[in-house]
Amino acid sequence: MPETIQFHDQGCAFCREFWISNSDQPKLIGVSLEYQCHLYRCGVCSSWWEYGSNYPHVIDEDLAHRIAVTVEPGLS
Ligand SMILES: [Zn+2]
Repeated sequence: MPETIQFHDQGCAFCREFWISNSDQPKLIGVSLEYQCHLYRCGVCSSWWEYGSNYPHVIDEDLAHRIAVTVEPGLS
């Protein structure tokens, strides 16, 4: 089992706030159908966030890159 990081220890104040109220971080990178999640990245602390069927949580860089290659390109 991966170690669980407490929510208040994830990301930074800006991107944690996003899920609770209205902050402009993190930015949505895209939606991955393969991973069934939305991938976000905080421009302040560079944390990657995954928001799928569970609560949003910070993920490590390796996983973020694996998800990033599967995301649908955003609408231009
Ligand atoms: Zn952050």
